[in-house]
This record gives sequence, C-alpha cells and structure tokens, in this order.
Amino acid sequence: MVIGRFAPTPSGGLHFGSLVAALASFLSVRRQGGRWLVRMEDVDTPRCEPGADALILRQLEQYALHWDGEVLFQSTRAEAYRAARDVLMQAGLAYACACSRSQIRTQATHWNSEGAIYPGTCRSLGLSAAKPLAVRMDTAKVQAGSIIEFMDGALGAQACDVAQDFGDFVLWRVEDMAAYHLAVVVDDAWQGVTEVVRGSDLLDSTPRQILLQRALGLPTPRYAHVPLALAANGQKLSKQNLAPCLPIKSPSEDLWDALVFLGERPPMDLHGASPAELLAWALEKPERVSTA
Ligand code: GLU
Repeated sequence: MVIGRFAPTPSGGLHFGSLVAALASFLSVRRQGGRWLVRMEDVDTPRCEPGADALILRQLEQYALHWDGEVLFQSTRAEAYRAARDVLMQAGLAYACACSRSQIRTQATHWNSEGAIYPGTCRSLGLSAAKPLAVRMDTAKVQAGSIIEFMDGALGAQACDVAQDFGDFVLWRVEDMAAYHLAVVVDDAWQGVTEVVRGSDLLDSTPRQILLQRALGLPTPRYAHVPLALAANGQKLSKQNLAPCLPIKSPSEDLWDALVFLGERPPMDLHGASPAELLAWALEKPERVSTA
C-alpha cells in the first residue's frame, strides 16, 4: 500500500506554495490508490502560530484534499524522538555539543548555503546529554558511509556526501526538543510512509534524512521534489517572506492555479468547477509526478 503525507509546519495558514506541495503529494498517492496522511509539524513550538493548525485543516477541506485517518501532531511525539536520539547516542553515532552559534561561526572552515558547517569541535569530548545541550549526528560514523545516492521521482539521480556537504547536523536542540530531521524520520517510519512528495526547497534535507534512516535501521521512502512556487520577486513563498495566506473565499481558483503550476491542464469547461470536480478530473489522468 502506498502511503504519502503532507507535513505542514503550522506557522501560518496555507500559502500558494504549500497548497502546491499538498496537491502534488495528494495526487501522486491517490493516483496509486494509496493513503494520504496529514502530519502537523508543530515540534518547533516557538515557530507555531496559535490556530494555524485548525486553519490549515479547514483550508485542506475546502480544497477537497481529504486525508485519511487522524492527523498526527508532532507535539505529542517527544518521547519517540528522545528514544531515537538515545539509540543513536548509545550506538556512538551521536554526541552532545556545547558550541554556541558564534563559536561555530568563528571556528568553521567550510560553509554551505545554510551557513557554517559544524567543524566537529565536540565530537570526541564525550559530553553528557543530561545537561541542556544540543546533540549532533556523527555523520562520518554511519556504517553504510555518508555518501547518499537516491533517485528523485521529479529531479532524477541525486548524490551527496553528507559528512562533507552538511557536516554533523543537529538532532536535538538545546531547547530540549527534537530537531526537524530527527522528528521527520521517526514519524515517516512510524506512519509507514512509502513516498514523500514535497517542495524542492527540502531537497537538501533528504540526504540527511536517508542517512538517519540508515543509522536507525529504518526503511527509506521514495522521494520526489516538485518545483517551488516563488513570489514575483523570485523569493521563496513562506511566512517569513510574508507570503499571503490563501483566502478561504476562492478555493476553486486557487486549486486551478495549483494544478496549472504542476503542469496539469484542466479543460476550460471546468473553470469555476468545485474543488472536488477539479480533483476528480485530475485523478483520472495518468500519474505525472513519479516516485518510482
Ligand atoms: N514541515 C516542513 C515544512 O512545512 C515540511 C516537512 C516535510 O515535508 O518533510 O516545510
């Protein structure tokens, strides 16, 4: 059974970019007769906006993007993330880190598009994670190696060396909460997710997530990263860039635009049709985004 998911961070309502991501994963899963899950990535509580989770769910319903089963809230999963962190620490694949951001900036010798790559200062210090410290993945220690290759269903063959290109990334934050990659990997496995279709802004996350799956002995889903809807100025649509939350009054037009963005060509006689009719039309067409 194919299982896919849409995993929004409830830092605001859906904007056009997140609607595109939701639609792409919905269509891919439903075209294969699979289950489509929604997971609220509210692990990073300071970034969450009160009420945004309910708003996102209401918006999805308005677009007739109906999900299966209960919505999983990451805020209820802290113990599972902590257990995975402890497994990695006990296996010697993760270590506590006491470095501040400014220390990392001054000590770094390599940078990537996200900033300074952690230079490994605390790697062999054996600090205890009992104190409020961050925990990092020891990327060079994973037995299968840190070179990750995968076939992206939308972008083709991908390869990178996680140790070199991203370094020892954070698994657990000093604020005593799981970091994004750990939470996603634990939940994708727990929910039995077999395919991840999401925006290409997350392409860089995938090798780190596959590395973590290997370290934890978890299966790797198939991945496809769809083009990102950008604002007119070329910037990513995001709450930080003040992307407008989609108004709930025009679901048919928004869905039409999202279909067109994904390369679908709804016939003109469906213009103004309900979201359910638009989706029914799209689901009759052969699969476009392939995760095979
Ligand atoms: N929560 C992430 C976001 O909203 C998406 C995570 C994912 O799809 O893996 O950008």
